[in-house]
Amino acid sequence: MAISRRHALRASLLGSAGAALATAAPASAWAEPDAPFDGGARQALRLLKEGNRRWRRFASRHPNEGRNRRIEVAQGQNPFALVLGCADSRVPPELVFDRGLGDLFTVRSAGEVLDSSVLGSVTYAVEHLEVPLIVVLGHSSCGAVSAAVDTHRTGELPHGHVGYLVEQILEVVEATPDEGGDFLDACVRANAVHVADLLRTDDELRPFVESGRLDIVPARYDLNGYGVDWL
Ligand SMILES: [Zn+2]
Repeated sequence: MAISRRHALRASLLGSAGAALATAAPASAWAEPDAPFDGGARQALRLLKEGNRRWRRFASRHPNEGRNRRIEVAQGQNPFALVLGCADSRVPPELVFDRGLGDLFTVRSAGEVLDSSVLGSVTYAVEHLEVPLIVVLGHSSCGAVSAAVDTHRTGELPHGHVGYLVEQILEVVEATPDEGGDFLDACVRANAVHVADLLRTDDELRPFVESGRLDIVPARYDLNGYGVDWL
């Protein structure tokens, strides 16, 4: 079902040649907010923005959690977006975007730091699940970025695995001008933009971006206002 909708929508985007297929898609696919179609990055981004608007207003609908959806996703997954977010417990993508089962392929690491495992997970979703949109979701008061700011200021690197994380973020912090405002937040934004750039230029992901099959968008979630800034 999901796959046929994907093909129908893509056909409709190709113009009249796909008109017959496009009309085969149920009209409800366009109007039903709880059954997202996955025609591409623009539609995916719109669904995320709508979901965050509901979350921000305490009007979440918790879509796609019911029995039918559970039965449907047991047959396979067809997520319409990938969210690479921080591991922070206060920023679960399904909640802040008000989505449900099978909607979002989520990959989380502190500070959205990339390593081979994270890149492997992201690439799997792009290559095999044909996810059309990646959102790199940083957030205000990020502890991982804050630790990198501390290292930048003190010269002291945390030991072990946490030190590895901080090292990955440190280059962004060092490249961000400290203009006396909210330096941590400037680094949070710069880090999300940087990670998005790394993904766009990755050898295995770049062909998907260049051919228009994949959009990558950095963003920042606000722990106080509950909204997402699109960077
Ligand atoms: Zn964080």
